Amino acid sequence: MIESFGESVPTNAFADSEMAEGNPADTKNTPLRVSARRSRRRRTNLWLLGLIVGLLGAYACYVFLLPALKVQLLYLLNPSKQILPYDLAQDWTNQILMRSFEFLFFGWFFYFGASVGSFLNLVAGRVPEGRTIVFGGSKCPFCDTRLSFLDNTPILGWLILQGKCRTCHLPIAARYVLIEAAVGTVFLWLAIWQLDRGGANLPAWKWLGRNGVANIVLDPPWPLIGAYLMHASMFAVTIMLATACMGKKPFPMFPLVLIAVGLSSGKLIHPYLDCVPWYSPFLQSPTRLFAAAGASAIGQIANPLISILLGGFVGSLVGWLVNGREPGGHESNDDSGRNPARVARKNWIWICLVTGSVLGWQSVVFIIGLCLPVYLGLRKIVPVGRPEGSHGFGLHACFIIIALVHHSMWRQIAQWMTWVYATLTGLNS
Ligand SMILES: [Zn+2]
Repeated sequence: MIESFGESVPTNAFADSEMAEGNPADTKNTPLRVSARRSRRRRTNLWLLGLIVGLLGAYACYVFLLPALKVQLLYLLNPSKQILPYDLAQDWTNQILMRSFEFLFFGWFFYFGASVGSFLNLVAGRVPEGRTIVFGGSKCPFCDTRLSFLDNTPILGWLILQGKCRTCHLPIAARYVLIEAAVGTVFLWLAIWQLDRGGANLPAWKWLGRNGVANIVLDPPWPLIGAYLMHASMFAVTIMLATACMGKKPFPMFPLVLIAVGLSSGKLIHPYLDCVPWYSPFLQSPTRLFAAAGASAIGQIANPLISILLGGFVGSLVGWLVNGREPGGHESNDDSGRNPARVARKNWIWICLVTGSVLGWQSVVFIIGLCLPVYLGLRKIVPVGRPEGSHGFGLHACFIIIALVHHSMWRQIAQWMTWVYATLTGLNS
């Protein structure tokens, strides 16, 4: 039952009006009973209501409004030729069915991501404390009550409980639900931008046109699904590391190595997943020596391995250099003997290492190179304080957002960088 404490409606006022309307002879309607019944009534859960209304609104927009607007726009741009693309040329029932299926399909990716975020919340809470992540369900941190399946559902559980434990009514931090929503959004975005578009954002990816939902389901493009899972998981891990630094104990080394190896090992399984070869400054024009080495049989096996190791090394090195220069950093133990600044610094280096080993050294250099001036500029404009225990979070968040923008435009960025490199080294002339 959803808690009804703090009810702001004065129950006496209700009881009085009820009495005035009711039959005085009816003994069931004593003021006490009426007020008890009133206060037992569930308070409307505005969060849940908002979510349902929002979802219905999004569905209506996607299925009805968007195609109608698209048709109008196409006629406006092209008044003479009234040729519609395949999906808009279908009759209405087909379109509604198709778009409803798409809506559910992409909604599933958001939910999948939110579940991954929920699992990473558990990892971030338990691993630094040295507890197992395999056994034992989630419990309320205050009263140790085990959470039911529904209450443990990502995002929805928190909204149903209105951010409070069902038993002890103490608040559950909004951070958990925000991390779940952030990871869900990343999974949804990459599903739309990378999976559905057939890897159009990936440099050196053999682009065969847009996939479309039906193709993904009926004829799954496995290398692309592999790349999607690898990249989305990488973002999820960076989000976990960025938020795990708030006053927590540091992550032990072994799980972090395991995460980095697990994430980047996809490159060893399928050469496609190594989007930019390590020997190429950006996309094309590798020096002749390295290009020959890359094509050899040994190169086929060695290249992904070198790419992972070099990316991780360059990422952690640049991360270490940048954080050493970040202004205002201080390291001191707090009252409980923990050192949030040191944890944040360590997590920052791991964020850079993981990104480098998955995306390659070129990408991590580009992302950090852009992140640092943006972050320092933002700090000049927005006077953000640095509350104790949140040291470095702004820098981490800035990194992740820029990494996401970089990922969405990766192919274009690689092409620009190739052009810049070729111009600087005189290869264009
Ligand atoms: Zn509790």
